Amino acid sequence: MKTQTRVVVIGGGIAGCSTLYHLTQEGWTDVVLVERNELTSGTTWHSAAQVTNFGMTQTMVGLKSHSIRLYKELAEDPEYPINYHHADGGIRLANTERVMEGYRHFASMAKGMDVDFEVIDAAECARRHPLISTDNLIGGLWDPLDGDIDPAQLCQALARRARKAGAEVYRNTPVIGLTQHQDDSWTVHTTHGDIRCEIVVNACGYRVNEVGAMMGVHHPVASMEHQYFLTEEIPAIREAGHRMPLLRCPISDYYCRQEKFGLLVGFYEQGCKTWGMDGIDPNFVNALCPDDLDRVTDVLEGAFARMPALTEVGIHTVVNGPITYTIDGAPLVGPIPGKRNGFCIIGLRAGLGEGGGHGWLLAQQIVHGEACYDTWVIDPRRFTGHANVELTALKAVEDYQNEFRFHFPHEHRPAGRPMKTTPLTPILAAEGAEFGTVNGWERVAYIKPAPDFHETHSFRFTEAFDVVAAEVKAVQEGVGLTEVNGFNRIEITGPGARDWLDRMVCGRIPRKEGKVGLGYLLNHHGCVKAEATLANLDEGTIWYGSAAASEYHDMDWLTAHLPKDGSVKLRSLTNDWTILVLAGPKAREVLQAASRGDWSAAAFPWLSVRRAFVGIAPAVVMSVSFSGELAYEIHVPNASLYAAYLALRRAGEAHGLRLFGSYAVESMRLEKGYLHWKADLVTEFTPFETGLDRFVAMAKPDFTGKPALERMVAAGARRAFVSLVLDCTHAPAHGGDSIIHEGRAVGTVTSAGWGHRIGRNIAMGFVESGFAAPGTRLSVEVIGAPVAAEVVEGCLYDPENVRVRA
Ligand SMILES: Cc1cc2nc3c(=O)[nH]c(=O)nc-3n(C[C@H](O)[C@H](O)[C@H](O)COP(=O)(O)OP(=O)(O)OC[C@H]3O[C@@H](n4cnc5c(N)ncnc54)[C@H](O)[C@@H]3O)c2cc1C
Repeated sequence: MKTQTRVVVIGGGIAGCSTLYHLTQEGWTDVVLVERNELTSGTTWHSAAQVTNFGMTQTMVGLKSHSIRLYKELAEDPEYPINYHHADGGIRLANTERVMEGYRHFASMAKGMDVDFEVIDAAECARRHPLISTDNLIGGLWDPLDGDIDPAQLCQALARRARKAGAEVYRNTPVIGLTQHQDDSWTVHTTHGDIRCEIVVNACGYRVNEVGAMMGVHHPVASMEHQYFLTEEIPAIREAGHRMPLLRCPISDYYCRQEKFGLLVGFYEQGCKTWGMDGIDPNFVNALCPDDLDRVTDVLEGAFARMPALTEVGIHTVVNGPITYTIDGAPLVGPIPGKRNGFCIIGLRAGLGEGGGHGWLLAQQIVHGEACYDTWVIDPRRFTGHANVELTALKAVEDYQNEFRFHFPHEHRPAGRPMKTTPLTPILAAEGAEFGTVNGWERVAYIKPAPDFHETHSFRFTEAFDVVAAEVKAVQEGVGLTEVNGFNRIEITGPGARDWLDRMVCGRIPRKEGKVGLGYLLNHHGCVKAEATLANLDEGTIWYGSAAASEYHDMDWLTAHLPKDGSVKLRSLTNDWTILVLAGPKAREVLQAASRGDWSAAAFPWLSVRRAFVGIAPAVVMSVSFSGELAYEIHVPNASLYAAYLALRRAGEAHGLRLFGSYAVESMRLEKGYLHWKADLVTEFTPFETGLDRFVAMAKPDFTGKPALERMVAAGARRAFVSLVLDCTHAPAHGGDSIIHEGRAVGTVTSAGWGHRIGRNIAMGFVESGFAAPGTRLSVEVIGAPVAAEVVEGCLYDPENVRVRA
C-alpha cells in the first residue's frame, strides 16, 4: 500500500468509484481509493439502479446526461462490457394540470441542455407503458434516455479504468482515523497503515458521519429505509415485444422498471423510517434491513390500481436497504465547509443515476477549483449552522414522503420550521406575515391580507399577485419596512485589510470612510464567485455583506485567501445582527424622526454608511437600495431589533408606513436590473458576460482571477446577460426556461417576475452574444409555450437613479 499519494477517496460505492475514475480523467493519476470491505458493499450493491435524466436544474440535468453518456460508453467497451438498459424511456405521471405545467417548464429547461423531454397525454402514457391504467391520469413527462444498469459491474468498470490510468484501490481497508496537518495535508489512518495525502474525499454512503467525526465535522445527511420488491414473470411484458419504460408515480408514490420479464416496484410510503440514527452496527456489510411490506400497504394499493397486472403475480424478492437523504434532497458534492483540502460526495439518494455526473463535477472541482457547471445546487456549503442531525432527519422524512413531488416556485415545506428566527419573527407573524426560508432563516414573503389567505403555489401568477402589487405601491408612493434576516455580514479588520480586499475584488473598493460600494469577487477562472456590499465603516473596519445563502461559501473563499501573516482578521456577525430595510420616498422622514443626527441627502447621500441609534437601538445605517426607491438598510444587533422596529413603526405612523416582503423586493429588483447571487450570478460566466463591466477595473495591477479574465476577454464573450420583457400576463418565466430564436434555444432565463411599477412581465438571462442588442425579438418558453419577448435595457425603472438619490 502506498504511504503517500495526492488524493485518498474513502468509500468504494458508486460515489467513490466515480470520483476516482474522474480524477484520473482530469489528469491526476497518483490517487487512491480505500474501501472497508469489498467494492459496492454499502448501498450500491442492492440498488434498483435506475438511471434517469430528469432534474430540476440545468446542473442536475447536465450531470445526469454525463452519467448516461459515460455508462453507454462503458457498456459498449468490448474489453469489459457491462449490462446497461440504455434508453428504455421513462414516464413521470401527473393527475393535475398544475403538475403538467411543471413538466412543461422542466422540459423547456432541459432543452437548454440539449435534452429532449416530451410532455404526453394519458393515452400516450398508456400506449408507451401498456401495463398502466389511465384512470385519474392526465399525462406525464417522457424521458427518452431512462434505463437501468448493473451497479456492481458499473463500479468495477470505473475502478478498472481508474486502475489502468494509475490509480490504486485498496479493499478490506477501513479508515479508522484522519489527522490534518499544519499545511492542510492529511494522514489517513487505516487498519493496514497510514497514507499521507494532500486531499481526502468522504464517499462513505450511510457511514458518512462515522468518517465525518474523524475529521471533526457533522454532515447533514440522514438515512432512510427504502424498499422495493421483484415480481414473478408478467406475461404481458413478454408479449409487449419491447422493454417497459421506467415509471415514476407522484400520485401513489412508487416507481417501477422491468426486471427480466417481471417488474421491480419501489415505494415511498408515508409511514417511512429513518435508519442508523443512533449508530450503525459495524458488521452491517452487504446487508439489508428486515422486510417490512406492511409499512407500504398505503402505497401498494395505488400501485395495484395503476398497474392491475401486479395483482396477478407473486413477489419473489423484497429488498429493504438504507438510502441517504439531505435537507433539500440534493446531495453534498464539493468542499467540506471549514475543512481545507477536505471534499465529500455524500447524501446521494439517486446515486446510480447521478453518480457518474457527481464524480465528474467533484473531480473537476478538486483538480481545477471549479467545475464546468455552477455547482451551487449540490454545494455542501449551502447548509450552515442550523443543519444538525435532528433537522436533517425531519427534512429527510418529508422529502422521502414527497419523493416525486417537485417543489413549486416559492414552495417551502413545513418540516423543521421555524428553523432560524429573530426576535421579530413572532411579531411579524402576528402582523400576518407569510414566510419563506433562506439559509434556514424565516423571511417575510408578504403580508397576508386576511388570516385565511392562501397562496396556491403554481408556475402561473398566484393569488399573491395583487398583494404584492399593493406592497410595491406602498413602497413606491410612501414608505415600507421589512426585515432581511440572515444577511451574511463579515467584519474585516487589521492593518492589511484594505489592500487585501482590493486584491480580492475585481473592481474599485470604497476607500473613503463612510462610503459603501458593490464589489465582485472572481474565481481563478475569471468568472463570478461572489458579490458583496462593502461598507468602509470607520477607522480600520470594513463590513462585507452578501446574500444569506452565501454564509459558509463566502467565508470559505475569504479565509482560503487570507494572508498568512495575520494582518487581516475576519469575524462573522451574520447570526448576531439583522437588517431592517426602510424604503420609499418618505423613508428619510421616518428615519429622521426615529434617529438623531442629520439624515439629509447632503449629509448622508446615497452609498453612505454611519453608526447611529434608531430609537435606543445601536445601528449601522447604509443608504443603499435594492428596490430602486430611496432606502436605508438599518443593521441592528438582534438583541436591539425589536426596539429599533418599534422606533421605526412609531415614527412611520405619521407617514402611513406599511410592511412588505421579499416578493415585493424581487419585483422591484427585477425592474432595476439588479442581479441575484446563484440565480443570475454564476461561476460559468465572467463579469463582462454578466453585464458587470462597470464593476471591473482592469487597470488595477492585480486582483484574483485577473490573468484568467484577460484570457477570457481575448477569447471573446460566449454569452451576454440581458433583460427581456414578455408579451403575456398569465405567468412569469422561471429560471431555466429556454430563450428561443427561430425554433432554436439561444439562451436560458435565470430569474423572472412581474414588475409592478412598470406593469411588465420581466425576465433576465444569458443569451448567445449575437442576440443581446436591445430591440432584438426573441421568444421565451413560459410553461413550455413560446411567448414573444424583446431584449430591453437592463434597468427599466428610473435608470438615472434619481429616486435613490432623492
Ligand atoms: C432500495 C434502494 C433502491 C435504490 N434505487 C436506486 C435507483 O433506482 N437509482 C439510483 O440512482 N439510486 C438508487 N438508490 C440509491 C443508490 O443506490 C445510492 O444513492 C448509491 O448506491 C449510494 O452510493 P454511495 O457510493 O454514496 O454509497 P455506498 O454504496 O453505501 O458506498 C459507500 C462505501 O463506503 C465504504 N465505507 C464506509 N465507511 C468506510 C470507512 N471508514 N473506510 C473505508 N470505506 C468505508 C462502505 O463500505 C461502502 O462501500 C437506491 C437505494 C436503495 C436503498
